[in-house]
Amino acid sequence: MNKIRRKRLRKFLEPYRITRGKTFRLKDHDPGDTHRFKTEQKGEARELLARGVEWLAEEQGKLYAQDRWSVLLEFQAMDAAGKDGTIKHVMSGVNPQGVQVTSFKAPSAEDLDHDFMWRCMKTLPERGRIGIFNRSYYEEVLVVRVHEALLAKQKLPPELVGKNIWQERFEDIANIERYLARNGTLILKFFLNLSRGEQKKRFMERLDIPDKNWKFSSADARERGYWKAYMKAYEDMIRHTATPQAPWYVVPADNKWFSRLVVAAAVVEAMEGLDLHYPRVDAEKKKELAAARQMLMAEKG
Ligand code: ATP
Ligand code: MG
Repeated sequence: MNKIRRKRLRKFLEPYRITRGKTFRLKDHDPGDTHRFKTEQKGEARELLARGVEWLAEEQGKLYAQDRWSVLLEFQAMDAAGKDGTIKHVMSGVNPQGVQVTSFKAPSAEDLDHDFMWRCMKTLPERGRIGIFNRSYYEEVLVVRVHEALLAKQKLPPELVGKNIWQERFEDIANIERYLARNGTLILKFFLNLSRGEQKKRFMERLDIPDKNWKFSSADARERGYWKAYMKAYEDMIRHTATPQAPWYVVPADNKWFSRLVVAAAVVEAMEGLDLHYPRVDAEKKKELAAARQMLMAEKG
């Protein structure tokens, strides 16, 4: 990618990328934002997305061959924000062998017998791979914060559960992310920022369209009742865990075609920054390749 393109990409992402949380306010971010694209330019946005997807596939090939960096993409959002679809589209060109998606649901009995990071640490991407967390340890400061009864189930020694518990979790998360970054993991975190109105529209669709009925869950609809508490929790989470080494992207999610474009652009831009390349072949290896070529040429038939 040339310099001008890279600059343009960075500029496009600027409003969405949060690297220092302190001054972050969710109300400054419009879920309906589509940058300069009008609805009738959806096609143009889709073309750009397709290009991004192609480009990503190329970068992933190099990531794998180089076997040095790993990439961790984390997705958090309210229900029906489009996490699954975004993951599917953005990763559609990538070699499935190089990617691993893990969905984190309510923790199992075994999970609860460990610290909260345990289940996530077990499935971190190896060097050369892309790991995707569909939900993540961030649920520990979101759903668990909104429904404190969940915290009581976590079997923590009571004397360790004080009023600073969320602050402590933010610190622990930030420290672990710094540790991972220092060990060669590129971390990008996406909050798909959906409006309450658009969520209602999508839930209604799930009720109205028979092929979408299976997607509807009454539990999701109940969670809507806690919208304000969730938004507060999201804001506080971003304020405390957005860092240069593990930025949050607040992705406008009311238009799927746009949110996918932002996510693809962010991944492309970040991987581009790693300056990935296929391993260079040294003189000895070159000799080995020449010998192999001769051997194959000498074969009869
Ligand atoms: P989809 O509905 O598209 O399949 P999903 O991510 O919403 O995807 P669900 O099985 O519906 O999957 O929901 C998972 C649930 O697990 C969410 O309500 C989430 O808040 C909850 N969850 C995830 N992590 C934790 C956690 N650490 N503690 C408690 N609940 C959690
Ligand atoms: Mg769900």
